[in-house]
Amino acid sequence: MDAGAKNKQDLNTPVQYVKGVGPSRAQTFAQLGVQTVGDLLEYYPRDWVFAPTPVKIAQLQPNETVSVIGLVESTDYQSYRRTPLFEAMVSDDTGTCRIVWFHGGYLRNQFQPGQVLMVSGKATIYKHQLQMTNPKFMVLDESHTRPDLYFSGGVYPASARLGSGQIKRIIVPLLDRVDDWVGELYEKDILKKLHLIGRQDAFRWIHMPPDEDKLAKAKRRLKYDELFLMQLGLALRRYRVQRFSAAIPCACSDEMDSRIRKRFPFLLTEDQNDCIAEIVRDMGRTEPMNRLLQGDVGSGKTVVALYAALLAVGNGTQAAIMAPTEILASQHFISMERYLKNSQVKRVLITGGLTGKKRRELLEQIRQGDIDIVVGTVALLQKDIEFRKLGLAVIDEQHKFGVHQRAELRKESTPHCLVMTATPIPRTLAMTAFGDLDVSIIKHAPPGRGAIVTRWVDRCHQQQAYDFIRERLKVKKQAYFVYPRISSVEEGDNEIKAATNDWKKLSQKVFPEFNVALLHGQMPSTEKQQIMTDFRKGRIDALVSTVVIEVGVDVPNATIMVIEGADRFGLAQLHQLRGRIGRGESKSYCLLFAETENDAARARLDVMTRTTDGFEIAEQDLRIRGPGEFFSARQHGLPDLKIANIIDDYQLLVMARKQAFEMASADPMLTREAHRPIRQTLLARFGDSLGLADIA
Ligand code: ADP
Ligand code: MG
Repeated sequence: MDAGAKNKQDLNTPVQYVKGVGPSRAQTFAQLGVQTVGDLLEYYPRDWVFAPTPVKIAQLQPNETVSVIGLVESTDYQSYRRTPLFEAMVSDDTGTCRIVWFHGGYLRNQFQPGQVLMVSGKATIYKHQLQMTNPKFMVLDESHTRPDLYFSGGVYPASARLGSGQIKRIIVPLLDRVDDWVGELYEKDILKKLHLIGRQDAFRWIHMPPDEDKLAKAKRRLKYDELFLMQLGLALRRYRVQRFSAAIPCACSDEMDSRIRKRFPFLLTEDQNDCIAEIVRDMGRTEPMNRLLQGDVGSGKTVVALYAALLAVGNGTQAAIMAPTEILASQHFISMERYLKNSQVKRVLITGGLTGKKRRELLEQIRQGDIDIVVGTVALLQKDIEFRKLGLAVIDEQHKFGVHQRAELRKESTPHCLVMTATPIPRTLAMTAFGDLDVSIIKHAPPGRGAIVTRWVDRCHQQQAYDFIRERLKVKKQAYFVYPRISSVEEGDNEIKAATNDWKKLSQKVFPEFNVALLHGQMPSTEKQQIMTDFRKGRIDALVSTVVIEVGVDVPNATIMVIEGADRFGLAQLHQLRGRIGRGESKSYCLLFAETENDAARARLDVMTRTTDGFEIAEQDLRIRGPGEFFSARQHGLPDLKIANIIDDYQLLVMARKQAFEMASADPMLTREAHRPIRQTLLARFGDSLGLADIA
């Protein structure tokens, strides 16, 4: 490639045109996620090595790690030894050194006398002779103008078709152009205040660190940038929601507060009160509330949500409560009915079975504002329901998070929005995935809950486990038997088949004296409802089910849960499932049936037997799986982090978040001249996905 063409390259140049790449390697790079020159610069090493600068042989000191360049004088392969070895005598103008590679037979064809060799390793004295054992080595030729480079610097994540060394030889020459391509993002005083080095140095040093200290500085700078840009994107998104939409402020007088509290037959816990205080503050403003309410199953979120709904209704607006499934929606409705007996508040459950004239009438009443609280599935409520004055939308996501759902609702009107999730999200993730959401947490469940004992049961102790369960059933306790999702083409069918087969076995052979029922996802909705009702009323002793029961059933008398094939469930799901027991006052038992040699699965089961604390489980889950897998990045809007890690770099994340939110509030459109590089970088990186296009 001529010099002119080379000069035209920039960060957006396809990697194919980089020296040493070409169309075929470009394909390999594409598989590594590298499309452009900019991606190459951000293809960071996964590790770094530091080889010392070469010294003369006469300077060698025993037990020091050094590099030496010398001429190969002779070679010898000694295969007759107990441990065969290959040796080379290497000399420079100051002395000779013996180099030994044990089991070095493979080197016979690589080294010949007369070659120039560079070795790096530890020197020793052996039988009065200077020696290096098993050093790293490289045969040099005239193309190696910087031989030290190949022992030092980055070790890249390689693929079968592209080794780390090859990647390095492609990236390193690009570093000469960094000054032309990469601009600084921040003003000088910010760099100084945050102790950050310049961005150009950071790119050079991350790929070719002169020493450990500079490498650390480069890492810190690039991690900071990644975290800062992510947080700024979130901050700006949040700003837009607040600025371009207005909600109906819902004031909360003492009188209203006590009227709402009278609805609950218990005192609210401290955690519930804290959450309510935060919600009341949010809902009193014209800025739409955007809050995530987190807490384990059974921790009392529904009560908090109902408080918010009654506050909205008390202010003359309507509230919508949405759940992912019909079972869960009806659960919400049932529990709401418990609290709202004899209340004036008009509430309705919208179900899929509701059709025709009745449905039309109901929708009309909602449109007229004659109904205060509407409960239903997300799908149903979003479809064609028009509210007169929607003040609050509560979305119970159980263990999913739907950035999209929030967005969709916002278009129609701008209610305050409360998203509930039963998946405990580690703080670090809440900050990154939900950086534009406020978070309220219920950490402690209401008092009076029995402990849950969890055991991991091997197949050979199954009979004992069944005997134990029988004793519990005899004293009128109830049990769940849950079956895993089976990953195969006919996933759903197999899951049902496994549950059905075991149901036959359990009901006919193991527990013939008890009423054992089967519940699975493909049953008609009315049948499912009936079984759930029977179970709740104690007419069914044991419920064999696929994971459908995972969502929302509240049967305090069910104190036993058997999870079959527990190794196939993720930690979050195991925790969710287990949350179905331990709801009453007596002790509960969770039996995990699993046999596996899989380390990750064993780690999960261990965590489950060790703790019932959802936040700890979530942290462990994050550790076992890593953030990338914890949530699939795209689905949850988690930007892809290349060098920063939200667990290890938590302090940096907090710092970046503070800076980002300050910047967003000081210059929300990023129109200041000093912020231009940041705005451009954000646009290039996130494009329209953050709704930034109209800022440019
Ligand atoms: P979640 O929605 O978080 O799963 P719920 O709000 O459904 O939890 O509450 C679970 C159970 O705890 C319900 O039976 C509810 O009546 C009860 N509960 C909630 N708050 C309290 C409290 N402060 N004191 C006693 N019981 C409570
Ligand atoms: Mg609930």
